[in-house]
Amino acid sequence: METKIFKVDSAESPLIREAADILKSGGIVAIPTETVYGLAGNALDSSVTQKIYKAKGRPSDNPLIVHISEFSQWAPLVKSIPETAKALADKFWPGPLTVILPKSDIIPDEVSGGLDTVAVRMPSDEIARKIITEAGVPLAAPSANTSGRPSPTSARHVIEDLSGRIDAVVDGGDCDVGVESTVISLAVSPPRLLRPGGITPGMLTEVLGEIEIDDAVYNRLAEGQQAASPGMKYKHYSPKAQIVLIKSDLDTFIAYAKENATESSAVLCFEGEEKDMPLRTVTYGKKDDALSQAKHIFDALRKLDEIGADKVFARYPKSDGVGLAVFNRLIRAAGFNEIEL
Ligand code: AMP
Ligand code: MG
Repeated sequence: METKIFKVDSAESPLIREAADILKSGGIVAIPTETVYGLAGNALDSSVTQKIYKAKGRPSDNPLIVHISEFSQWAPLVKSIPETAKALADKFWPGPLTVILPKSDIIPDEVSGGLDTVAVRMPSDEIARKIITEAGVPLAAPSANTSGRPSPTSARHVIEDLSGRIDAVVDGGDCDVGVESTVISLAVSPPRLLRPGGITPGMLTEVLGEIEIDDAVYNRLAEGQQAASPGMKYKHYSPKAQIVLIKSDLDTFIAYAKENATESSAVLCFEGEEKDMPLRTVTYGKKDDALSQAKHIFDALRKLDEIGADKVFARYPKSDGVGLAVFNRLIRAAGFNEIEL
């Protein structure tokens, strides 16, 4: 199929209607959100959600997040909305937070990946919200990448992975946050953080009191261990290169990279450090600025492929606040390969 490209610079663009018409008639369209680009389709039509899994090559037990544009769209999707969920939505919606609750019967099994819960989010990106409103239905929208590749933060990334496999891409420019939403489950007590993102553990505890952080946020799942968030068990965010995350000061890092480099090695470092590096470099934001690291990490991982790096020495991010989301993506991209010097 030919993938249409709609270049949209505001929520007022008439092209939004065209994208919504495709969604209304059962098509799948990549849309910009503040986190990453999502591959959207009618969440209540299982034949559409099957197309999403197929286009991405996504394992069928990895559930999809349902995107809404009005609070009133939430209640029909879930068994009930507890006070804690309302409090989270009041504080963080629209925004990069996904809330998991027991699902209602209108959610197709494909969307919940066979679980009895459903993940819902209201994006803050105005183009995304307008598309949902115009489509008139909640939209299932996993990240618009080929499964396993780094998530897409620009329309160019989507086209690289999915051109010819989806009906259209709405190009709304680069994503602001740059990592996928924070995912919290309220289907368990205490609430459990399944994936870190732009809404930090500290922000969540302010509203919820105690929360637990799922083991899979930091660690590789053990063989046979059940994943609370099925997505966490899959290989993720991976460039072709073998990445090693190095915890050390800058001088030790440089010496190690110099000593262990091959001809095709590269360095993944912070902006401003390039001039000191002995190898080709790709940067991912500024040191001590987790927001800028989040915004650039996925593009940086794609760039490492573009320059044909086979082995990559990566600077270690801080893992507090939004940094936890950056660390979580990078340690997965590295296949949990880290050393401390
Ligand atoms: P993506 O949309 O590609 O960013 O991935 C969505 C993430 O949310 C995956 O890691 C899923 O495993 C997770 N997720 C979605 N729905 C649920 C659910 N009902 N229970 C647990 N995790 C979920
Ligand atoms: Mg994804």
